[in-house]
Amino acid sequence: MLGKGIIKGMAETARNFLGSYVSAERLTTVQYPEQRIPQIEKARQFPFLVFDGDDPMKGLRCVACQICEKECPPKCIYIVKSKDKRVDYKGQMQLYPATFDIDLSVCMSCQICVEVCPFESIKMDTAYELSTTDRFGGLMVNKHQLAKSNEHYRHIHPTDAAASDAALAVEVAKAQAKAKADIEAKAKAAAEAKAKAAVITPVAPKPVAAT
Ligand code: SF4
Ligand code: SF4
Repeated sequence: MLGKGIIKGMAETARNFLGSYVSAERLTTVQYPEQRIPQIEKARQFPFLVFDGDDPMKGLRCVACQICEKECPPKCIYIVKSKDKRVDYKGQMQLYPATFDIDLSVCMSCQICVEVCPFESIKMDTAYELSTTDRFGGLMVNKHQLAKSNEHYRHIHPTDAAASDAALAVEVAKAQAKAKADIEAKAKAAAEAKAKAAVITPVAPKPVAAT
């Protein structure tokens, strides 16, 4: 029947409208800002940078590889690499972002930056009350504003954060196994070199006693 979908939609709207007078479950709106609808786990607004430990800057996972900057469709990520390196979460020396800015007024919440990041460094936040009266720079956020703890990530996206933690644990285990294998290989090479030197070192002849 022509228009059947429209009639079904209108009926559902009427059911919710009339039902809202007798049942709270039929209410589809709340008295914002006094009330807020809890966000679902898959909700996403804008990106943030994950840090581990207590220090937001030292604990940033980002290694300034700039993949997200290149892949961001509207080009609203600005990264400057550090000149020096520091120890990362795997115990390896890595670069870090001297500058990491995102212009949230341009960001379209596509999550591509999250998907291309190889280091579980950037994730989507659920914060949405970001309005500002500064239309030119108010939504340009820097790494200090973007840094949020892994505990925050676990709180807003527990399923994804558990998968991320597991992936990082595998990387850490691999790095530790490689470091251990390197140490053992070096020790073995040193022992072999020592043994070889002992074999080829000529033994000085004993002096013949005078008769
Ligand atoms: S969510 Fe999309 S638009 Fe926003 S910073 Fe990431 S890649 Fe760019
Ligand atoms: S957030 Fe990820 S992809 Fe972007 S620069 Fe940092 S490590 Fe690279």
